[in-house]
Amino acid sequence: MTVPPPLKNDCFALPPGVRWTPVDEALEMVKSRLAPVTASETIALSEALGRVLAAPVTAPRAHPPHANCAVDGYAVSGAHYRAGAHQVALQDGRSAAGAPFAGVVPETAALRVLTGANLPTGTDTVILQEDVVLKDGHILFNGPLKPGANARRAGEDVMAGDSLLPAGHRLAPADLGLLAATGVGQVEVRQKLRVAVLSTGDELAEVGEIARPDQIYDANRPMLLATIAQLGHEPIDMGQSPDDRAALSRYLSNAADKADVILTSGGASAGDEDHMSALLSETGTMSLWRMAVKPGRPLALGMWQGTPVFGLPGNPVAALVCTLIFARPAMRLLAGEGWHIPEGLMLPAAFTKSKKAGRREYLRARLNAGQVEVFPSEGSGRISGLSWATGLVELSDEAQSITPGTPVRYISYADFGL
Ligand code: AMP
Ligand code: MG
Repeated sequence: MTVPPPLKNDCFALPPGVRWTPVDEALEMVKSRLAPVTASETIALSEALGRVLAAPVTAPRAHPPHANCAVDGYAVSGAHYRAGAHQVALQDGRSAAGAPFAGVVPETAALRVLTGANLPTGTDTVILQEDVVLKDGHILFNGPLKPGANARRAGEDVMAGDSLLPAGHRLAPADLGLLAATGVGQVEVRQKLRVAVLSTGDELAEVGEIARPDQIYDANRPMLLATIAQLGHEPIDMGQSPDDRAALSRYLSNAADKADVILTSGGASAGDEDHMSALLSETGTMSLWRMAVKPGRPLALGMWQGTPVFGLPGNPVAALVCTLIFARPAMRLLAGEGWHIPEGLMLPAAFTKSKKAGRREYLRARLNAGQVEVFPSEGSGRISGLSWATGLVELSDEAQSITPGTPVRYISYADFGL
């Protein structure tokens, strides 16, 4: 098992001077400072779905390993048959998938073959059985034949030694097919990134309990735990901390013991009860990232006992948007996965909006007849809009005046991996 070096304590430090950091600049900083923190291990291919490759994979074997037949029919030597009618003697025997023909087929003969069978020695072309009439131990067909037709060359898909997938690639079902086909039985992957999720706030009630009138249900934790799982990481539920510095400190230490990265929500600004940012400040590692983004509020980024902490805003809408825009690419890097920011699609707006320059905005959006509509309220507490939406609309930092038909960037939840 290979274990990477720990992150530096100043990995979230911002350049001096208070200002609003543009989203792209913030992302560049994340990109340049974070590195994989997960160790690698070798596992069976059958266990590897959704895991991140720790090393590139090359093909141990060609695909197909041997020239074979693409259809049921008759194998011949294709160059031998010009235009016109032909009658060719059938050789005794056949070649079937897994049961090859042992002999050699003369240039003037044909052999019965089935799909997936090794192409018999002496042949290079298969005539589709539907194009043939069988008569007295012969086949009748019309030329010309295209040499190589209906046959697959050895290695035409993959040659032994070809590079198949790069390090950092997350294995999808189709990848497992490719690796299996080329004889890869085991892969070296990263251990899953363990992500602790902690809610903070005296007002929070646990879903399933009866909430007092002064309480709200903790919506962020189920949402963020599910997001982590969908992104392919290992979610760790750390519960709810009250707005109490000593208690929160214990919760953080507990999370740092169990996880590679900690996501908290609430208490991240600079108010009286914003203990998250206060505690991270005490460690001397905190940066309050004031991003030029709406919905946002500051993100409190820091290290707790060597573990990176993303202090997300408490508002559910801001918490999810900040997770998708900032924490998602960061977690990918920590997990050993490559950098990726979804591009989305430019589609016509079905709404009207004007925004000021200098700040990026994300609106809850969904598609309607090929156009992008947005949730009627931009209120950051309106969690119903997150569920109504099927993605976000990204309005660029520059001023934009959007009217129906203006192209806007729509990024679906699926594009983010949800
Ligand atoms: P804060 O960032 O702690 O000032 O919280 C901002 C807003 O988000 C407040 O209205 C909180 O009650 C709300 N909030 C904080 N945490 C959660 C949570 N886990 N689930 C739902 N709402 C929350
Ligand atoms: Mg709070």
